[in-house]
Amino acid sequence: MELPFSESYKIKMVEPLRRSTREEREQWIKEAKYNLFNLKSNQVFIDLLTDSGTGAMSDRQWGAIMMGDESYAGASSYYNLKNSIQSILGFEYFMPTHQGRAAENVLFSVMVKEGDYIPGNSHFDTTKGHIEFRKAHAVDCTIDEAANTELYHPFKGNVDPAKLEKFMSENHAKVPFIIVTVTNNTAGGQPVSMECLRQVRKIADKYGKRVVFDSARFAENAYFIKIREEGYANKTIKEIVKEMFSYADAMTMSSKKDAIVNIGGFIAMRDNELWRQCSTFNIMFEGYVTYGGMSGRDMNALAVGLDEGTEFDYLETRIKQVEYLGNRLKEFGIPFQYPAGGHAIFVDANKVLPNIPKEELRAQTLAIELYLEAGIRGVEIGTLLADRDPVTRENRYPKLELLRLAIPRRVYTNNHMDVIAVALKNVYDRRNELKHGFDIVWEAPIMRHFTVELERVK
Ligand SMILES: *Cc1c(COP(=O)(O)O)cnc(C)c1O
Repeated sequence: MELPFSESYKIKMVEPLRRSTREEREQWIKEAKYNLFNLKSNQVFIDLLTDSGTGAMSDRQWGAIMMGDESYAGASSYYNLKNSIQSILGFEYFMPTHQGRAAENVLFSVMVKEGDYIPGNSHFDTTKGHIEFRKAHAVDCTIDEAANTELYHPFKGNVDPAKLEKFMSENHAKVPFIIVTVTNNTAGGQPVSMECLRQVRKIADKYGKRVVFDSARFAENAYFIKIREEGYANKTIKEIVKEMFSYADAMTMSSKKDAIVNIGGFIAMRDNELWRQCSTFNIMFEGYVTYGGMSGRDMNALAVGLDEGTEFDYLETRIKQVEYLGNRLKEFGIPFQYPAGGHAIFVDANKVLPNIPKEELRAQTLAIELYLEAGIRGVEIGTLLADRDPVTRENRYPKLELLRLAIPRRVYTNNHMDVIAVALKNVYDRRNELKHGFDIVWEAPIMRHFTVELERVK
């Protein structure tokens, strides 16, 4: 008999979880104004709000933390991180930042100016924010298949080379660089193929432009290339990662994702002149160039995390867990962005709750029902997040109304995945009893989803 698949690690330290009653949860979510961000973490049983900074570090990482060098300039921890970035990602120059959006802020301070256009696959919210804040424009050239949740495509995060080429041929004078997000978070943690990265490089070369990777989940992307793309089955993750980054001139990184640390980020590049230009902004916004907002111990943990995060056994455990949850949902007939992405399951709330008017926030309603059912906290990726049109102030209703269940790295077991699947099935089974959602009673002028206050529609 073939041995079943199991985790590539064992557990050395644990943290208790508190179960609650439905009555308690009814009270807590009401007090939280039906906004899951307002819940206290001890009011949550299984927390799937995000996979960012929520991973469990290894004994090697905790060991490296004890060896942190807190010197202001030239700390050994900085050089440990530099070596790790050079050997794993292949970039000669880098600077640490406190997290991914800070890396964007510093790099874009140099590379983006008013009136620019930045094409690529789907831009992450903070990336788009940093582009639009500079009065420039993000241009989404993702393949059309990404918007159809039921359609199988092995690389649903891809840039459509025809769309990109067309945009470049008409607008290249206003394009400072092309950005590719690996994996494509906004499309559901969907991977980008090596073939696509090669094509993007070719188009960039044709117009003499740089390519930047937004790299938060680059290792999960490499895993999908190994499993799904012809010619990569026998390559190691580290070989695949090296080839991926060979098509980029620079990268921004949120280390809170695939580098399995709780805080941190960096920018890496090939060009010394670009490094010099960035260093001024890094010193202004983040800190001196050899720490950039990170402590020595955190840089040490990150250096180890980059190595562990690009090991096949770890990635297989991680991605098979997300896939396991997806398979359980499939068994129950619950519609989600298929195939499962690297870091999360995105449940299609338009298909689960079509009877609720879209003005009453379908995905948020589903998120609240799942919390009430079992104390599971997901997050709405729908109308609340899409916010209002800045000019007309009308609500923007996105094509997809999703409930994202992000899986923290090395934190939960497959028994937890079973609890999530069954809880969602129970909600799904009573979906026709749910006729109404929620009204907004207060919202901030931008980024409303974090602080919005809601009430039940009676
Ligand atoms: C998380 C994320 C960022 C921003 O990083 P932070 O560390 O949260 O500031 C940027 N791009 C992508 C694709 C991300 O997932």
